[in-house]
Amino acid sequence: MEYGLLGERLGHSFSPRIHKALWGADYGLIEKSPEELGPFLQSGGFRGLNVTIPYKQAVIPYLAELSEAARAIGSVNTILRREDGSLWGHNTDYDGFLALVKSLSFDLRGKKALVLGDGGAAKTVRAVLRNKGVGELVTISRRGPDNYENLSRHVDAALIVNTTPLGMYPNVDAAAVDLERFPACKAVLDLIYNPARTKLLLQAEELGMEALGGLPMLVEQGRKAAELFSGHSIPAEEGERLLRRLRAETMNVALIGMPGCGKSTVGRALAERLGRPFVDLDEELVKRAGKSIPTIFAEEGEAGFRARETALLDEFSRESGLVIATGGGVVTRPENRPLLRRNSRVIRLERLLEQLATDGRPLSQTRSVLALACEREHLYRAWAEGTVQVTEPKETARRIEALLWEESE
Ligand code: NAP
Repeated sequence: MEYGLLGERLGHSFSPRIHKALWGADYGLIEKSPEELGPFLQSGGFRGLNVTIPYKQAVIPYLAELSEAARAIGSVNTILRREDGSLWGHNTDYDGFLALVKSLSFDLRGKKALVLGDGGAAKTVRAVLRNKGVGELVTISRRGPDNYENLSRHVDAALIVNTTPLGMYPNVDAAAVDLERFPACKAVLDLIYNPARTKLLLQAEELGMEALGGLPMLVEQGRKAAELFSGHSIPAEEGERLLRRLRAETMNVALIGMPGCGKSTVGRALAERLGRPFVDLDEELVKRAGKSIPTIFAEEGEAGFRARETALLDEFSRESGLVIATGGGVVTRPENRPLLRRNSRVIRLERLLEQLATDGRPLSQTRSVLALACEREHLYRAWAEGTVQVTEPKETARRIEALLWEESE
């Protein structure tokens, strides 16, 4: 393998997909223990590497030369073997984070920025923010003079950047700070990309702040490294297309819509078509409760049913790459919306009211379908990123897939 990502424990990584898509590279994952690091770098058995936790600084003594950016930041994420066999180190995380900052709608010059965490990525983030002319740059570190105990010193921050791992899958319930404490904050950037929207970003959205996750940074650092490895330029549009594609491929697809509109049947057909696992929340709920939905309604009321539904949604919305059919009433609880937004593309299925199935659906039987529609239609519309008319299940699934790619092309 001539190219790859070097780290200690890599697990799942997007990097092989990014490099294959951008320049057709045979790019692998290279796990080395700290004792193996030096001998591997000296072995000469590779042409180019990306470097991740915990080796971005540890590789430096093995490199003959550093780029200006890598030297200034003190961290290397890209290594290139030169013609004479010597190693050159560079930092394309800088370009990645710069791309994220450039997509903000306001100028950072003179503004105050907080960087949460003081590890390797924080060095890169600070270098970019300094070059963008921020007025005051503060690092919040558990070990530093500015820490989580004295955050009230910084309520005037306009930008908050999370470089801690808090909120990353599977610990998605964590967030480094409560954004309610920062009334002047206009934007939050989170370097985490799984889930697509961390708890911190969801709160930022709720408070009307700009909120951006780490996937664009990951793709841009990959594009810049791919240019160095391949020796040719790769247009920024290719990176943007890949970003949309990665989002479409990795996020869940959650189907919402009126009871009886066909979410389960269409969801099953869509999962089969996309080769993804399928979760029917109502079916799962019945299986876990050991009783039917009408029995749950009779014994626990609608509130009991909804609490079970939210707990299940919370569980499955942490995952990636699922097709999820939700219950028709999922939109009646505002707390379900961030759970869906966390890591799912939300698609609304629409069907003529007279075609909706009502069997086994307590609310559809006790209240008129029309009344339910009046109550919920505006919510389905507001929560969905796209709408598909339900016809034959396989055909509907085909159109949902087209919509997912259309948005990603
Ligand atoms: P790192 O060197 O381990 O640093 C993370 C820092 O976060 C630590 O130094 C620590 O700072 C803080 N931290 C760790 N655990 C914490 C906890 N339980 N509570 C509060 N703070 C905690 O890792 P890194 O290389 O900087 O990466 C940080 C994050 O950025 C990771 O999630 C990584 O996946 C992500 N990342 C994303 C991209 C991208 O392209 N999107 C690129 C690089 C990194 P203190 O001890 O100072 O508090």
